[in-house]
Amino acid sequence: MTANSPLITDVDVIVTNPMQVPLGNFALVRITTDQDGLYGWGDATCSGSEMAVAAMIEEHLAPALIGQPAGRIEQLWHTIFHLPYYRSGSVHLSAISGIDMALWDIKGKQAGLPVCELLGGRVRDRMLTYRSVSGRTFDEVLERVQELRQAGYQVVKVQVAVPELEAGYAVPASDSQMEANAEAFSRGVPPDETWEPEPYTRLLPPFFEFLRKELGDSVQLIHDVHERVTPSQGLRLACDLAPFNLFYLEDLLRPEHLDTFRLVRQQSPVPLAMGEVFCDPWQGQELWFEHLVDYARHDLAHIGGITAARKIAAVCEARGILTAWHGPGNISPVTHMANAHVSLAVPNFGIQEFDANWDDRIEEVFSTVPAYADGHVTVPLSTGLGIDVDIDAARQHPYVRRMRPTVRRGDGTPWAY
Ligand code: MG
Repeated sequence: MTANSPLITDVDVIVTNPMQVPLGNFALVRITTDQDGLYGWGDATCSGSEMAVAAMIEEHLAPALIGQPAGRIEQLWHTIFHLPYYRSGSVHLSAISGIDMALWDIKGKQAGLPVCELLGGRVRDRMLTYRSVSGRTFDEVLERVQELRQAGYQVVKVQVAVPELEAGYAVPASDSQMEANAEAFSRGVPPDETWEPEPYTRLLPPFFEFLRKELGDSVQLIHDVHERVTPSQGLRLACDLAPFNLFYLEDLLRPEHLDTFRLVRQQSPVPLAMGEVFCDPWQGQELWFEHLVDYARHDLAHIGGITAARKIAAVCEARGILTAWHGPGNISPVTHMANAHVSLAVPNFGIQEFDANWDDRIEEVFSTVPAYADGHVTVPLSTGLGIDVDIDAARQHPYVRRMRPTVRRGDGTPWAY
């Protein structure tokens, strides 16, 4: 091979938890080449399966990569996609995602260009973003939205607790629930949370009526259902929330409820966002091909990395569907940088989530994180993905077993997280 085709010499995985918090484990992939000092970082984090992904890479995929030309990203993607024969799913595709990002990082460093330049160059200079707020009461949520609006945010995601319930998705738990969670975390077992979809479904229309009355149209609003309702409740919500002019309603239904997506589309103009639960590029493809959703919210750490994301974006572009890549704190800054490079380069960008709530400890391990500026996200652009990892610091903050809650109905029936 010539000097232009570096060969892969090592594929290493480090699982680190810089803040030692629940949902804070990151599975990082480092691919080393035979060119002096040329290596790349990727993020294979799949929170809930971190150690399984690490084993998938080290034991089941890395042997097929060693000695191969690092520049053949598309070929290697498909090689490791077909390699296990029983393919797809969160563990396999998160592993592929981390490897894919590391290969793009290498290609960018080798070219001396940021990855977004390899994807066609920047279509924009900064990315619209939103922050999430929540509260136990309507007034608590309102106060936090107003704070963010004053800080320059044009879009805010709002979540509110259901008064009858101790916990909910992305809302503050009651004091007794928080005590139970802490006790379960200390034993490394999942806490139990109780959820009922009907009181939640009834609460949301008056919640948005209250916010619109207080805020007018001064801020755009997002809400995440997180698939916690039945199909008929989802249809009802989509109709009931239509008057409140949402930016989008997120994860209203489970992916398999395709028939109900079609009904929602016929009966409500509410914009829909979907994608973070998908674990390969073409999962849920009917949603894009039939234009049943408006925003593609895939997680670049779970759908096959940058290689998959740019294809999904191209499919969406033809239908006017916009991107809104998943950007929570439980994927590492490496994925946030990958999100940024794709978001900067695709024409059909919608919004970029960067809602991490990390503290300074994250920067002990990662050389950079995205920043907020006037309701937008900015990233420093250097060669490759533009982010490095301090391996010694990462090793000083090892994996911690902190499991998501098991969510059950009042009668014990398991329910969507
Ligand atoms: Mg979500």
